[in-house]
Amino acid sequence: MSLVTNDFKLKIQELKKKYDATILAHNYQLPEVQDVADYVGDSLGLSINAAKTKQRTIVFCGVHFMAETASIICPDKEVLIPDLDAGCSLASTIDISQLNAWKSEHEDAVVVSYVNTSAEIKAMSDYCCTSSNAVNVVNSIPKDLEILFLPDMFLGAYVADVTKRKNMFIWPGECHVHAGIRAEDVNMMLTKYKDADFLIHPECGCTTSTLYNSSNGDIVKKPHILSTEGMMKHARLGNASKYVIATEVGILHRMAKENPSKTFIPIKENAICKYMKMITVEKVYDSLIKNIYRVKVPQKIADRARLAIDRMLQIS
Ligand code: SF4
Repeated sequence: MSLVTNDFKLKIQELKKKYDATILAHNYQLPEVQDVADYVGDSLGLSINAAKTKQRTIVFCGVHFMAETASIICPDKEVLIPDLDAGCSLASTIDISQLNAWKSEHEDAVVVSYVNTSAEIKAMSDYCCTSSNAVNVVNSIPKDLEILFLPDMFLGAYVADVTKRKNMFIWPGECHVHAGIRAEDVNMMLTKYKDADFLIHPECGCTTSTLYNSSNGDIVKKPHILSTEGMMKHARLGNASKYVIATEVGILHRMAKENPSKTFIPIKENAICKYMKMITVEKVYDSLIKNIYRVKVPQKIADRARLAIDRMLQIS
């Protein structure tokens, strides 16, 4: 149970008004952080929402690359992240010198970056993609062109499998959360909860290995492969009373809150992103009152990265 008092939550509401700020929170944030947010969603939804916000300041409760994306999409807003150390193990598997070296081995290749990458990597990419549009992005690229796909190897392997693309090279990156979700864990839970619907969230890299395993037939029950909002919709409209959820456990707070008569079971109790959990409600308070920590992508990088992000937003 949250130790955050209503008084404290009220103070945060007052500060938001005082500083003309809005709070956006990712689905994997701590429950009490989600509860003080104006909008809770996945990284794509957060970016779209950031672009629409009327407030001058955005307090971004998520990991650093997401706050960067908000800064790129809304250069006129002030974007704050309550903890600068909230990184992403997947995004940090590749840096610009590694990408430069890789590109020099494949000079004419098209670079497709999963959205879980730094602004610098996005700026060096031709396309960004999310898990839900990665197949369409790859299919939109002429078949004779080589593709460098980064940084998630499980998503890359899945996309190569679906598109039958032979000239696609995949960066060997992985997220520490999804790397811990193995086919045997999934099968064990699905055998235990035979009557439950099985939902996999393809965003954020957390379940891409499961996605890949399901395409190989290593998983006993066919999953519903859904974006976060798709998962939320399925949880709301589905006929099942139980749902096994394969993603970071933070989303179960929102699911239970919006569907109190249904049961949501995490595929793995310890599928926890330590970076997402670095943001506490006390740090959100500090962020508002001290105007910290500002995330501003340099204009040159932002302009180049925006092209790749715009292409991502255009291909559904
Ligand atoms: S869950 Fe994985 S991919 Fe998502 S933010 Fe955390 S480390 Fe990055």
